[in-house]
Amino acid sequence: MDRIEFHIAARDGRARTGALRTPRGEIRTPAFMPVGTAATVKAMLPESVRATGADILLGNTYHLMLRPGAERVARLGGLHAFMNWDRPILTDSGGFQVMSLADLRKLTEEGVTFRSHVDGARHFLSPETSMEIQRLLGSDIVMAFDECPALPATEETVAKSMRLSMRWAARSRDAFGDRPGHALFGIQQGGVTRELREESAEALTAIGFDGYAIGGLAVGEGQEAMFGVLDYAPGFLPEDRPRYLMGVGKPDDIVGAVMRGVDMFDCVLPSRSGRTGQVFTRRGVVNIKNARHADDPRPLDETCGCPACRSYSRAYLHHVFKSGEIIASMLLTWHNLHYYQELMAGLRGAIAEGRLAAFAAGFAAERAAGDLPPL
Ligand SMILES: [Zn+2]
Repeated sequence: MDRIEFHIAARDGRARTGALRTPRGEIRTPAFMPVGTAATVKAMLPESVRATGADILLGNTYHLMLRPGAERVARLGGLHAFMNWDRPILTDSGGFQVMSLADLRKLTEEGVTFRSHVDGARHFLSPETSMEIQRLLGSDIVMAFDECPALPATEETVAKSMRLSMRWAARSRDAFGDRPGHALFGIQQGGVTRELREESAEALTAIGFDGYAIGGLAVGEGQEAMFGVLDYAPGFLPEDRPRYLMGVGKPDDIVGAVMRGVDMFDCVLPSRSGRTGQVFTRRGVVNIKNARHADDPRPLDETCGCPACRSYSRAYLHHVFKSGEIIASMLLTWHNLHYYQELMAGLRGAIAEGRLAAFAAGFAAERAAGDLPPL
């Protein structure tokens, strides 16, 4: 198979479940993509990431272009071979991270000039250079180069930025060309303004992409405002293409977004939290640093099948975390990624069986009940 195909197997309300089929393997949707910023999901071996149930990873163009460099990765056989992950990889365009370097960059119609946070060297990113870098990396799903304005911003600023992103989307499409087996996703912008989200979706659909991301959310607007946008924004995008909500999110963000028709997610939260002692469980977030765990022989979650829960106590995880031992990051990251993938599997199963509302209610009730009472 040399084409990427999206197949919807079942629907429940606005939610969908199915698969995005690629030459490197199938991505079951709704899907969560762990973030492998610098060609590694921190504290995890690639085979361990796969064992949690991940079908696809995300890599960051900005970080990889600066270090080790896209040409070097290409000479070494591409990102899959370089990092020992043979399944699909999605790369972002670098735009979001460059834009967050507010005082280290200069934005023009052509693109963005910026200084590297690694060595201060000057670099230039544009739709054309971003497509070339993502091609050199060997990414399966390539993201169009866009601008995401920092919020809060006026509607006028958001509109101007969105229209620039739509011109860049057309340039990204031209520069990407025809690459069988690789997909290009466009990114809807428009902040929290319905008319701008609609205008952006129309512009992207006219250009034509293999999938569509919803960008510019989860940037500090809060869950209520984000869900407000997701009540209409996915509906402006083509029904038969995957919809990807970038940078989201917490488990309850994901459940709410799936119910509003989103198919793909990525977020650093489960891996980053694993290194800061925040543990995601079906009973909500557990802080392993808390002294209440010091004498607790029970697992984090007795129903979880991950190595941290099968073979270690809360007391041990508390101890190795407090001692700064590397195994704490390894075990807690594994558990968090496992929890996220179990959540996605639960959502997929619930949609397939038409019981998503009951699943979401059970999810909320378990979280509301809170962690196990202390011993
Ligand atoms: Zn676990």
